[in-house]
Amino acid sequence: MTANILDGKALSAQILQQVRQNVEARLSAGKRLPALAVILVGEEPASAIYVRNKRRSCETASVRSVSHDLPASTTQEALLALIDQLNEDPEIDGILVQLPLPKHIEAETVIERIHPDKDVDGFHPYNIGRLALRLPTLRPCTPRGVMTLLKASGEELKGKHAVIVGASNIVGRPMGLELLLAGCTVTTTHRFTRDLKSFVSQAEILVVAVGKPKFIPGEWIREGAMVIDVGINRLPDNSICGDVDFETARQRAAWITPVPGGVGPMTVATLLENTLEAAQRHAP
Ligand code: NAP
Repeated sequence: MTANILDGKALSAQILQQVRQNVEARLSAGKRLPALAVILVGEEPASAIYVRNKRRSCETASVRSVSHDLPASTTQEALLALIDQLNEDPEIDGILVQLPLPKHIEAETVIERIHPDKDVDGFHPYNIGRLALRLPTLRPCTPRGVMTLLKASGEELKGKHAVIVGASNIVGRPMGLELLLAGCTVTTTHRFTRDLKSFVSQAEILVVAVGKPKFIPGEWIREGAMVIDVGINRLPDNSICGDVDFETARQRAAWITPVPGGVGPMTVATLLENTLEAAQRHAP
């Protein structure tokens, strides 16, 4: 079997066009452009690339992007004061603080300061709690983008055994909540899981978010599985690969995401969907 590709690049382009059409309809109805404030603290090269992609996608989707590029020496108080100001600003619909933050700033404190209605990354405990209670509002972008990709396959997700490798706050944990909401039976594995292979080989849906190049060998994949590779790893030759050994895994999976061109662009497109939704709520 050679897997079908779950093409995040193509699907994300469609989503950005849908957002754009919605924005244009809002403009025709006399409403303003949705606006996303993007805060970058410091000059970490990977973060700078992610932020540039997000700002570019804002342009494609006709969403106004408001840049706040702050030096690495910015104090936590100054960052919180900026968030307070953006929370109060009626012209701003979404606030995104690019992670990771410099070590002297506590990410949790910053995330909790963003008003949940403007938390377009979906990381605020209120929004995670709503997802856990089956009342989703703004949902974490990567897991929501993964669900959009899985649904685009046309496969029935209900009742499937989904196995997640990695249990971070931004991917693994909310991914479990999304898959549960979609009616899957969910197993979450992590650093302390014993015999990871036995879990991976049971997965009808496998989502891997660990951050280790080719961590999951293709031989572990169940025949006919749907494989979602969230990992983004830069190799010494500067190329990028995922957490799954793509070439061997595609021989066994029915569906698989490439890296790059799979989950990454879906995360960004979902951010724009969330921003539109936030704007629809602020200025219906
Ligand atoms: P993270 O915060 O470092 O979390 C990694 C998770 O993997 C942790 O839960 C960790 O377990 C688990 N883990 C580590 N070693 C393991 C092992 N041997 N067996 C099983 N689980 C293990 O990373 P993250 O933020 O979730 O990101 C993961 C990867 O996805 C990175 O490559 C990142 O760049 C990428 N990413 C991509 C996107 C995208 O849009 N495509 C978005 C976000 C992240 P413990 O909790 O026990 O430590």
